[in-house]
Amino acid sequence: MNRSETSTTQYDVLVVGAGPGGLAAAKGAREAGAERVLLVERDSRAGGILNQCIHDGFGIVRYRQQLTGPEYALKAEAELADMGIELLTGCHVLRIDAQEHVHVVTVVSADGLKHIETGTVILATGCRERTRGAIAIPGSRPAGVFTAGVTQNLVNVRNVMPGKRVVIFGSGDVGMIMARRLTLEGAHVEAVVEIFPQPAGLSRNVSQCLYDYDIPIFCSHTISNIIGKKRLEAVEISALDQDMQPVSGTERLIECDTLVLSVGLIPENEVAQTAGVALDAKTNGVITDEHLQTSICGIFACGNARRIMDLADFVSEQGEMAGRNAVAYLRGAEMDTWDEARTSSMAKGFPEEGVVTCTLCPTGCQVRFNEETGEYEGNKCKRGAQFAEQERTAPKRILTTTVKLADGRLLPVRSAFPVSKQKLPQLVRQTSEITVSPPVKCGETVTTLQDGEREVAVVAAAEM
Ligand SMILES: Cc1cc2nc3c(=O)[nH]c(=O)nc-3n(C[C@H](O)[C@H](O)[C@H](O)COP(=O)(O)OP(=O)(O)OC[C@H]3O[C@@H](n4cnc5c(N)ncnc54)[C@H](O)[C@@H]3O)c2cc1C
Ligand code: SF4
Repeated sequence: MNRSETSTTQYDVLVVGAGPGGLAAAKGAREAGAERVLLVERDSRAGGILNQCIHDGFGIVRYRQQLTGPEYALKAEAELADMGIELLTGCHVLRIDAQEHVHVVTVVSADGLKHIETGTVILATGCRERTRGAIAIPGSRPAGVFTAGVTQNLVNVRNVMPGKRVVIFGSGDVGMIMARRLTLEGAHVEAVVEIFPQPAGLSRNVSQCLYDYDIPIFCSHTISNIIGKKRLEAVEISALDQDMQPVSGTERLIECDTLVLSVGLIPENEVAQTAGVALDAKTNGVITDEHLQTSICGIFACGNARRIMDLADFVSEQGEMAGRNAVAYLRGAEMDTWDEARTSSMAKGFPEEGVVTCTLCPTGCQVRFNEETGEYEGNKCKRGAQFAEQERTAPKRILTTTVKLADGRLLPVRSAFPVSKQKLPQLVRQTSEITVSPPVKCGETVTTLQDGEREVAVVAAAEM
């Protein structure tokens, strides 16, 4: 043991990762009666991937509100206040040595290396992105090829635009959300290319991220070549046959300086591997039983580390259960059972012609106007008819973007209420010209704009 090593602390529950899964797991464990709960996060703040997801669409199940990612993270973190949970940020879990009654977790931070003893561990380490190497696209290796998550981090956190003319490969929700974000920030998104016959993400994102901005989508197509020496100059796309093979003669060149890969997420499980827990060979997710316990007694898993999940709300719900079950394990009590069907029922793929996906709750009703009866159909409650009527006549969206802080950081902001869809690009441009002096509290008005109908308060969506 060298000078910077210390030992040994004792916890009931140690949670690895403070995204929505980990935050909820710590809360669940404490509420179930665990006295000593430690939450370890390698980033400088809690919140996980949500900190860079500045769009709205979070929290409709858990908080009955349309929140942005940073607002959801802040709310989840605030729930832990005064609960006596220790949060260590800037602290990386390196390994877990699983033993019969106690697990030893090795962490490293600016304070050096520590070995921490704990009765149970909850793995909430999230996921990482598939890269170009993982999908083997032919062609040269110029600059200008990014993954969607890296692009999101550059634009929403680091204030760096990756390029001006963009092609997106993959039509999952992350890819489509980035197509809209890049467009609103002034880039031209030439196309989204998808290997399957239908978009992979939610119908609402096809309509609100692609159709709203006239971004073409090429389904049953692949990127068959990457062209460029130093910087990307173009991509070649080709149609795919039923065996997913490029069809000769269908090649088409799209000039662009940036290719964004949104080709899937993989559970991040290096730490789980050090403990020796069983992983799914196909997905890399931690295998658990119905109580969220891994192949090693006393080690639990939740969120994207276990299985990629669409909605943060269900990740939080699952995290809470993992926390409760860890405590039940310590006491030899009965554990709760996770219902694998707990997931969003929102429609995926191309939206049906004339159908509006109601986005007011995760049921995602497909609402259609019946010309003969003059009534809306398909909505399970009245709010759906009102939503569809507004979509048909004067669609509105929540403005979500960033403003510069005087110290150079970016502050996520949102409009206090939905604004005219047509005015959105102009409002984003106006917002980007503002500089705000920190400190700023979440919910504080940073500026007021005009959307043509009324004044729009733009409020901080994070605390900085
Ligand atoms: C681009 C994008 C858009 C999305 N949009 C929506 C949406 O609109 N609505 C919605 O509900 N959901 C959305 N989701 C899904 C949702 O955000 C995720 O499912 C959820 O955040 C996953 O939570 P998690 O806690 O499992 O993982 P994460 O949020 O990834 O958190 C994992 C945490 O673990 C930490 N960690 C990992 N390894 C270690 C280690 N060794 N030591 C210490 N810390 C570690 C990481 O730093 C991270 O903070 C979106 C996801 C993405 C990527
Ligand atoms: S119509 Fe009602 S139940 Fe259906 S998605 Fe909208 S708010 Fe939810």
